[in-house]
Amino acid sequence: MNQMNLADFHLTLQVMDNIDAGVVILDRNYTVIAWNTFMQAYSGINTDRIMGQNLFDVVDDLPKAWLKNKIESTFKLRMRSFTSWEDRPQIFNFQNFSPISGGSCLMYQNMTLTPLKALSGEYSHVCMTITDVSDIAKNKTHLRESNEQLTHLSMTDRLTQLYNRGHWESCLLEEFDRCRQLQQPATLIMFDIDHFKKVNDTYGHVTGDGVIRTVASLLRRTKRQSDIAGRYGGEEFGVILPNTTADMGLYFTERLRDRVQSAAVSVDVRSISVTISLGVSEWHSGFRTYEAWLENADNALYQSKQNGRNQTTVSNSAALERAVMASS
Ligand code: GH3
Ligand code: MG
Ligand code: MG
Repeated sequence: MNQMNLADFHLTLQVMDNIDAGVVILDRNYTVIAWNTFMQAYSGINTDRIMGQNLFDVVDDLPKAWLKNKIESTFKLRMRSFTSWEDRPQIFNFQNFSPISGGSCLMYQNMTLTPLKALSGEYSHVCMTITDVSDIAKNKTHLRESNEQLTHLSMTDRLTQLYNRGHWESCLLEEFDRCRQLQQPATLIMFDIDHFKKVNDTYGHVTGDGVIRTVASLLRRTKRQSDIAGRYGGEEFGVILPNTTADMGLYFTERLRDRVQSAAVSVDVRSISVTISLGVSEWHSGFRTYEAWLENADNALYQSKQNGRNQTTVSNSAALERAVMASS
């Protein structure tokens, strides 16, 4: 190397050591040819200790097979490659002292692999750059979590934690479309707490809220995982039972009705119990819209109220025909 080249080299080394990224140069046998200050600082491995050594011998917790594969394809394709923290958050087991997290945590990394040409013109080395993207990763993860939380809030009824009306209706529409496509049964149940005004009038709204919550939690415990429950209105609820006929739906309503009338909500020293009236409607291919289905279940619920409450009405074929006629 002549004087000029040596001076250039000296400058290059300074850049490499002051850059805010890890720089590692390897030959085809993964022997370390360069290991900059960043790498030294975060790995705790001194340049002297690793130079001339096989990378994987000295840093033994690397994702060896994965990284070798990446390096090999960089050589093969003679092209720069990039790996994002979103595919693999950590390559080197580095700690990051981030002001965002207020402490140390694993460093999220992006990695670039660049094939390097020797003077002979052949690709003999690869340059690995590691950048610390912990702050970006944290922000993005935080944003994603906030969005998930917002989505959850926008679908959920505050009092009962069941689906709110808007989201539940969109589930009903989905189920309605699914029934039409697959011609499979599904059953819709609407129910309402009996004489609930009296509960509010006698014990106050707060107790009334407690009753609604109790009924919701009984509903949650009685339904199957795949059944979709929502709070439709004040003290009215809707449940979609996919792959279920009305007869099977009746088992569900009777179990729920029994649990509700046996449950007691304590108020001071007294305890209140309530009953519910239910309407059951199995999907019918004649329903033009999901609203027709909903109305059919609502009419059955109304029948239960008319017939004395604390009971279930399954929409009969005459009522179904009426609903079909009305919706066509
Ligand atoms: P029915 O047996 O015919 O259903 O009689 P009901 O008294 O339950 O009549 P209705 O369904 O019309 O009345 C519901 C009452 O529920 C009216 C309303 O003040 C009350 N309500 C609605 N939402 C809430 C709520 O979130 N909390 C409380 N505490 N009460 C509510
Ligand atoms: Mg009511
Ligand atoms: Mg009501």
